[in-house]
Amino acid sequence: MMSTPIEMITEESALQASGFYWRERDDVRALVCEPLEEDGFTNAFSTRVGGVSPMPESALNLAGFNEDESENIYENRRRFLKLFEGEWLLTGCWQVHGIDVRVVRTREEANQKPGVLGDDQYCDALVSRTPNVLLAVKTADCVPVLIDDPITRSFAAVHAGWRGTSSSIIKQAIGQLENQFGAVAANLRVAIGPAANHCCYEVGSDVISVFKERFANADDLLAPTRDGHARINLHQANREQLMDAGVSPDRIHVAPFCTMDRNDLFFSYRQEKQRHGRVGRLMSVIGTRE
Ligand SMILES: [Zn+2]
Repeated sequence: MMSTPIEMITEESALQASGFYWRERDDVRALVCEPLEEDGFTNAFSTRVGGVSPMPESALNLAGFNEDESENIYENRRRFLKLFEGEWLLTGCWQVHGIDVRVVRTREEANQKPGVLGDDQYCDALVSRTPNVLLAVKTADCVPVLIDDPITRSFAAVHAGWRGTSSSIIKQAIGQLENQFGAVAANLRVAIGPAANHCCYEVGSDVISVFKERFANADDLLAPTRDGHARINLHQANREQLMDAGVSPDRIHVAPFCTMDRNDLFFSYRQEKQRHGRVGRLMSVIGTRE
């Protein structure tokens, strides 16, 4: 019998404790948040595994049409969607590191030309309660956040890089869930996906000064490294903003992965941009069925 390496056992138990598990179909692999699923919400955070893109090979690149052949991206999306039962409309937006939230009220609003994925809509978060619509955000190091409300059946997908986090994009998304659908923050459940974490993600004085200006506890989010630099904890920053908005800490689930450390599983802009020039995009999705 082969023995399992100790780090694999540690990784498995960390994953289980955090509320996530791996879903695999054919060669495609994604991370699913179990408590969101138990609330009745289909959800997943994609990996780079099981696709057709040469990034550098068999990569599941799900967006970024200027960096990959569109046929590759469509095929990768087809493979990714096979992870979920039923028919889904995938809908997203053209992400600009801003604070605008797109409200998707109907299937018609969600329905877009194949591959377009809402690229005419500039925003960084989406909210909806339309069944069979999968809201999607694209990342490669930025923080993807998925939110469900089991009471109103509304849900949200949020893209929170350092800019979005510094402008509290997550609070904008929660505000729209409240205003549009009558959600109450205390009922929300949240999954924070793989991102560049505080173990690796070093920022410069520009980012440091923005955080120090906007957050009283910025020193807790920044670990100084060399002169004028610090490692930043965006997972923690978003977690704190969620609690600030009224989300209960035991309803916030954080995936125990750093995209920069686990470049074998995830695309990382910071690890790959200089090395390959082209970087794939991960996709995080949430939706509910009728
Ligand atoms: Zn790391």
